[in-house]
Amino acid sequence: MILPGHKSIQVFFYHSGLSARVSFDPHATMNADAFARNFVKPEFTAGEASQWLMIATDGELYGHHQIFRDKFLSYLLDGSISAQHIETVYPGLQLTQQKVFPVIKVRDNTSWSCHHGVLRWSSVCACTPNSDWKKPLREALERISDEVDKLFVASCNGILENVWEARDRYIEVFSGDQKFADWVRKMSDAQMTDEKIKQLDQLFQAELDCQRMFTSCGWFFDDLDRIEPRNAVLYGAHAVWLTRQFAAFDLSAEVSPLLEKSKSWRINLSALDIFNEVMLRFEQGQKPS
Ligand SMILES: [Zn+2]
Repeated sequence: MILPGHKSIQVFFYHSGLSARVSFDPHATMNADAFARNFVKPEFTAGEASQWLMIATDGELYGHHQIFRDKFLSYLLDGSISAQHIETVYPGLQLTQQKVFPVIKVRDNTSWSCHHGVLRWSSVCACTPNSDWKKPLREALERISDEVDKLFVASCNGILENVWEARDRYIEVFSGDQKFADWVRKMSDAQMTDEKIKQLDQLFQAELDCQRMFTSCGWFFDDLDRIEPRNAVLYGAHAVWLTRQFAAFDLSAEVSPLLEKSKSWRINLSALDIFNEVMLRFEQGQKPS
């Protein structure tokens, strides 16, 4: 698939019928031999070479959502499929074996799990009809993100050449491989005081918060009063907390009216309540995990 900037990624299409069968029809996966014989084998045309298909499901299905399906999967891959004279293959291996790669384009603003484009992540649609809380929360967090970005870029000026590449490489610190001070000194020849390094450390953490607060599951469900949107607010608050000594104005005050408009439809709770509660915890020295 062609991407902007002369980049590309490899995309695999899954077989929707078989994937849905595994995910949502527990009777079909009671017996791996029967599944291979009755559902997988008929998808292949006899005599034609180089046919392949992919079944894609959530990993937690196997043994968590559906008991014993871990054993179903194990037996399917280690006996049932080969008994039907079908070879198993995985994406990395398929890439090495496939010679022709058709080029495709993504249709903008479409998604797998919302039938209304990508509305589910920012507004009300039939997938989550009670989600009036999403729009004002999204506006608030985007406001925070914009401001953190400005502070980040300004603070890195003269120190890091490509700030966004550095932001992506911050995983080397986040993963625990390197200490921030050592890492940033390796990234730049510029002279930096300890105070400057501390400032950059906080801004890189805030950038990470800004990525975390837009995690898909934070916006996926229908109510604010769930752990996922609560976490989105928590990360937004932490970004504000980290950057407030550098910000030209009080970001908390600016986003509070928007957060107040974002309300749970089930209980008396607003995003501002969550924001204020976690800010208090940060004041007391707690950190988000
Ligand atoms: Zn939808």
